[in-house]
Amino acid sequence: MIFDLHCHTLLSDGALAPAELVARAAAMGVDVLAITDHDTLDAWPEARRATASLPGAIRLVPGIEFSTRWETIGIHVLGLNVDPASDAMEAGVRYQTEARLERARRIGERLAKQGIAGAFDGAAALSAGGYIGRPQFARHLVAIGKAGSVEDAFRRYVGDSLVGDIRQHWANLPQVIEWIRAAGGVAVLAHPLKYKLTRSKLKRLLADFMRAGGEGLEVISGQQQLQQTASLAKLCEQLGLLASCGSDFHEPGNPWSELGRFRALPDYLAPVWERF
Ligand code: AMP
Ligand code: MN
Ligand code: MN
Ligand code: MN
Repeated sequence: MIFDLHCHTLLSDGALAPAELVARAAAMGVDVLAITDHDTLDAWPEARRATASLPGAIRLVPGIEFSTRWETIGIHVLGLNVDPASDAMEAGVRYQTEARLERARRIGERLAKQGIAGAFDGAAALSAGGYIGRPQFARHLVAIGKAGSVEDAFRRYVGDSLVGDIRQHWANLPQVIEWIRAAGGVAVLAHPLKYKLTRSKLKRLLADFMRAGGEGLEVISGQQQLQQTASLAKLCEQLGLLASCGSDFHEPGNPWSELGRFRALPDYLAPVWERF
């Protein structure tokens, strides 16, 4: 069985529509899929319809990837198996949507101070739903010739510790975990190695995460080195966390994060889907 519990549609910063994503996952042999767009559940209705009309059986698990902060660091927390119709998800998504809009305005203002006017409108025009994130700013900066590529735009403008990197608007870590739990879901710390923390700082983050009710660790995020998996698996086991895995797929063409294309979780770990 292939479980892919982390991926994105164009309702956040992915390239595919929900139905296209579900079809691609099925073609890649994924058995259980969680779509985890950034701070939105908008893909759910279309994805569920698409799943129901597919000949093969692919099971869809409702999911979300919340943006939050811990100390001064931007952190992502997956909510898996949440009830999309719950009051808690509605409240969480509403709060984060407002936060994202405020943040996008601030990013626009900061870019204007650097002589790049109209970036908010430009980024908003590239948004399929309500999501305006740094990827939309990056694409806009490429479109107006201020950057050579999305990567270049992140490096020069919107990447960590630059103008686009604003984290103070997000709900805090205990709050996002509370929304997830109140919606019947499991909170999983996404891609723990992406924050570039020392081992001891990661352990401190996980202690706070667990104290707030977080229960899972994304041990596998796309294709990663065996020693990274071994190190995260050890941490997961030591702390008694549930193990999760996902591609973090955004768009076709990136072999490191293709749907369903990653190694299986070590079998001694308790998988998060025990709770679905
Ligand atoms: P935001 O939700 O606005 O903070 O945007 C974060 C998203 O930007 C991440 O989920 C990634 O998909 C994307 N991202 C982050 N860093 C880079 C980068 N260096 N190049 C391309 N995309 C990136
Ligand atoms: Mn993303
Ligand atoms: Mn993420
Ligand atoms: Mn993601």
